[in-house]
Amino acid sequence: GAISPFLEPGNRTNANSLAIVHLSRDNLMPVILQDSKGEVDGYAEGSVINTRFGSFPHTTLINQPWGAQVRASIVDTGSRGRKKKEQDQEAAVEDSEGAGSATTPGQATPKGPETASSGFIHILPPTPEVWTTSLPHRTQVVYTPDYSYILHRIRARPGMRIIEAGAGSGSFTHASVRAVYSGYPKADDDARGKVYSFEFNEDRFHKMEAEVEAHGLTDLVKVSHRDVYNNGFLVDGKSPEAECVFLDLPAPWKALPHLSRSKPAGAEQDAPWVSPLRSDRTVHLCSFSPCIEQVTKTVEVMRQLGWMQIEMVEVSHKRVNVMRERVGLDMPTDRGSNLSPYDVGEAIQRLREVESKSKEFHERTQVAENGDADVDMDDASEAHKSNGTPAKGANESKVPVTSSAKPYMMGRLIHRTEPEIKTHTSYLVFAVMPQEWTEEQEAAAFAQWPCGQ
Ligand code: SAM
Repeated sequence: GAISPFLEPGNRTNANSLAIVHLSRDNLMPVILQDSKGEVDGYAEGSVINTRFGSFPHTTLINQPWGAQVRASIVDTGSRGRKKKEQDQEAAVEDSEGAGSATTPGQATPKGPETASSGFIHILPPTPEVWTTSLPHRTQVVYTPDYSYILHRIRARPGMRIIEAGAGSGSFTHASVRAVYSGYPKADDDARGKVYSFEFNEDRFHKMEAEVEAHGLTDLVKVSHRDVYNNGFLVDGKSPEAECVFLDLPAPWKALPHLSRSKPAGAEQDAPWVSPLRSDRTVHLCSFSPCIEQVTKTVEVMRQLGWMQIEMVEVSHKRVNVMRERVGLDMPTDRGSNLSPYDVGEAIQRLREVESKSKEFHERTQVAENGDADVDMDDASEAHKSNGTPAKGANESKVPVTSSAKPYMMGRLIHRTEPEIKTHTSYLVFAVMPQEWTEEQEAAAFAQWPCGQ
């Protein structure tokens, strides 16, 4: 199958592949970039992403270096349906006037009364972290602070096989496939990391399957439509040979008997028993439950089934904002002068709007010593090569910058901690199922014993 941009993103964005449009820290938009050139939805440019920062035809986002800043191309509805050629001509005129975009040469950055001033976005490679914050929610999901700790505790490493149930919205699935990824499987190559995911809700199962396919993960994630309480964890009758298990189920204790090494009590005596666990390794499991009643029930059944080192942990997540505190900034924003870095993008956009309309504002900001340092550092450093002279063409956006636009001049470095711990997510119950020892293994281990017999 296709190679997943989650695992091997390469250096640039690709057509028909997932990318994340970064509007702001808390506003990320997953997009499969379409290279269709024909008219789509009335736009001559093909598919277009419309945001409050302007509109971005997919074609302007394809083959960009990951992390690139891309300026809006279309801003007003007047450009709908216009022929691409006309737009290119317009772009050429804009460029010759120095009004084009610094980061996407040749792109139109229309101005004038019908085409309001535009902003920009950044285009990021998909990672489990950004996917978790931008994915379509079908259920409650596991968030990064929890899954990073869980994957560490269940010792998910490249080459391992992990069982997860239920798949839900696939947040944990994406994090776990990266953890166990050890390259794409070649023919007859079974010793690769893989995720065995189980979901009993039919609609969610189909959505998961489609997502796994769209994300190039079909070789590495096997999604099964299954009620694991009643039907366990085998895939096509075979054992996944899992070393790691993650359960995010309403009643995990009902699934636990299927995760034994030997036939669970109460199972049909004649039916053959195959354990989904790898027998020659210790198995590490985590069960994720929001209520303490679920935890006590799970722990009770774990004890009966021979799980060991049972322990419960809760991750209490607090966000710490690190920022530069700006004092006495003469900036026309309605938020006062203490801008956090997250307001900077907005401030820049605002600056650009005001600047294009007001000559007076332009003059004032050019004479300011430090107050105009509030531009993104990319622009500032690009525009200010070692001698402090703006590099030709490097900053065509006309955002006023001075040679003093250095990070340490952007204010005192401070941090603010969120006053409250984030609300409770879930309790994490960890447990270990020791390796099974055969007599041969015992003998072999004894023969290697450093003290000899
Ligand atoms: N861990 C997921 C994520 O990060 O996106 C969220 C899982 S969601 C909270 C729980 C899922 O378990 C639901 O999608 C539900 O349909 C599924 N489920 C419930 N009972 C199940 C069962 N007996 N077998 C398989 N899946 C089940």
